[in-house]
Amino acid sequence: MRFLRLLQCCALFLCGLLPSSVRAWPVTDDVKIPLQDALKKSYLDLFELTKDTQYSAADIDQIREGLKRGEDVCVNRFKQEASQYGKEIEQAQKQLKGDGAKITGAQRHELHCKIQDRRALQSQAEMLAKHAIPIAYQNRKAKLDLLEQWPAKFKEISKQLEDGSYRNRRWGDVEDIGFREIESGQASDVREGEEAMKQMKAQGLMPKEIENREVTDYVRGIAQRLASGSDLKVPLKVTVLDSKEINAFALPGGFLFIERGLLEAVDDEAELAGVIGHEMSHVIARHGHKLMLRATIANIFMQAAQVAAMIFTGGAAGIGTYYALQYGFYGLGFVLDLNLLGVSRDFELQADQLGIQYTWKSDYDPTGFVRFFDKMATTKGYVEGASWFYDHPPFYERMVQAEREITFLPKKEQVVIHSSQFDQMKKALVKVTVKAKKDEEKKPSLLGEEKGCPAPKKLEYEPGQSIDVICSN
Ligand SMILES: [Zn+2]
Repeated sequence: MRFLRLLQCCALFLCGLLPSSVRAWPVTDDVKIPLQDALKKSYLDLFELTKDTQYSAADIDQIREGLKRGEDVCVNRFKQEASQYGKEIEQAQKQLKGDGAKITGAQRHELHCKIQDRRALQSQAEMLAKHAIPIAYQNRKAKLDLLEQWPAKFKEISKQLEDGSYRNRRWGDVEDIGFREIESGQASDVREGEEAMKQMKAQGLMPKEIENREVTDYVRGIAQRLASGSDLKVPLKVTVLDSKEINAFALPGGFLFIERGLLEAVDDEAELAGVIGHEMSHVIARHGHKLMLRATIANIFMQAAQVAAMIFTGGAAGIGTYYALQYGFYGLGFVLDLNLLGVSRDFELQADQLGIQYTWKSDYDPTGFVRFFDKMATTKGYVEGASWFYDHPPFYERMVQAEREITFLPKKEQVVIHSSQFDQMKKALVKVTVKAKKDEEKKPSLLGEEKGCPAPKKLEYEPGQSIDVICSN
């Protein structure tokens, strides 16, 4: 898991762990905001606030060290908790085995409940240690990099704008969107995508689609609008899946999947357009095809299943391939992108850049993408195991390149952020979500369940809780 390792090396920051006497202020006279507070701002605010605010290198280094320590402390704490739960599980299992003949039915039930409870806690602790905490810290680290490097970068961007050289950037010919060639041979990917779809259907691994015309028509409409403002040369086939994951992904040849959780997580139409534009761009630049040159779909699928099983169970030991496979579809999006990240971070940067161009071309507010990214990485996405941020980690370069592209695009007088159709879709979605939750309760658990156990005593975190609170508890 190169990706996880990558996340784990990233330093992070904990306000609580820094001495309160350290108040690093910018070295320039036009003091705007102390460094620690700046790190809590959104990317868009930071771009604005800090374009001419240079913080001292020593202060930045000190915070970077603090971040690293903070992450280590927090990750280790949850690793230890996970291993403690593991021991308790083992103990209970030993008891069941050793005293099996002697224990009463009630005692057995109690032990089963205990194992079930500790398994859930262990999986949460592992998810935090392996995934949520590193992502949250990585986001802070990206913001620190931004504070360090943005003033110089902003100067460079301004200069390129002034002398017109920004037009020479990769795909700078935005006036010709739809008439230019990003990557030849898009059409030949359709069969590849169809084959992948066929295999997944044959194995019964396709999740349920949303059965609500209002929602699906709305999403298709947005995707279609973006497609007409893009370099897509194949027909777009949009499927809206009835799953709670905050995710979207595309298969080669124009098969686009949007999950219900994503629709729940976006706050306006421009945010949704940003994510769809990004995924569509993977199709246009033929990234999925390039990945499939290196691995068969079966191969990718197996990897997907493993990744997904790890995310869904927090890496709980003992989950068999059979169970893993049932998660496979959900993992597919991750693996496609994980592999892309493995192949080249540039693929993600390419999809970001093109996606921003297409939202702009379709008259959407192109900052929607950055806003969604920031919101998810900062407040909710990182604690949701299977979110888009699992495979789309926030890193400095992404945010800076996105802002750079937005700056270079010709300004439009009016852009769409919100729409009444968006509000209608949200209303219709509430009904879909309520029904899905009910159905979920009726569904048998994959891992088998002991009925009638007391509610879990302790949760590691509340949904939406900030990582600082989780780490300092
Ligand atoms: Zn991507």
